[in-house]
Amino acid sequence: MSERVVQRRLYDLFAVQSATERAQSYTEIAIKRAERMQTDPEKTKRRKAGECRWCFYSGAKLAGQAFTPWACARCDAQFSHPNTAVPALCRDCADKAKLCVTCMGDREGRRRKVLP
Ligand SMILES: [Zn+2]
Ligand SMILES: [Zn+2]
Repeated sequence: MSERVVQRRLYDLFAVQSATERAQSYTEIAIKRAERMQTDPEKTKRRKAGECRWCFYSGAKLAGQAFTPWACARCDAQFSHPNTAVPALCRDCADKAKLCVTCMGDREGRRRKVLP
């Protein structure tokens, strides 16, 4: 049997304080983002970017810095993206189908019954 490394965090006051501050600021950020998702204050910019509210406001697109080849899920056209957070759809398909370039969900959150 091989020894398993048990993960254990450092426990001291600084670690507790840091964790508290981190959680507090993440909470603040999440609340602000949720407010922005709800009110959609940059609707024009978001539509210009061709994204849904989640992808535009969530800041969930953590990306590695490397040119990444990708193909559009709808038309199979191939592209190169400056980072690893590659889009799902090319701009052309996304605009025609009114879907989000990033996640290919409906841009305005409507439930589609037919594949556009
Ligand atoms: Zn396409
Ligand atoms: Zn999206």
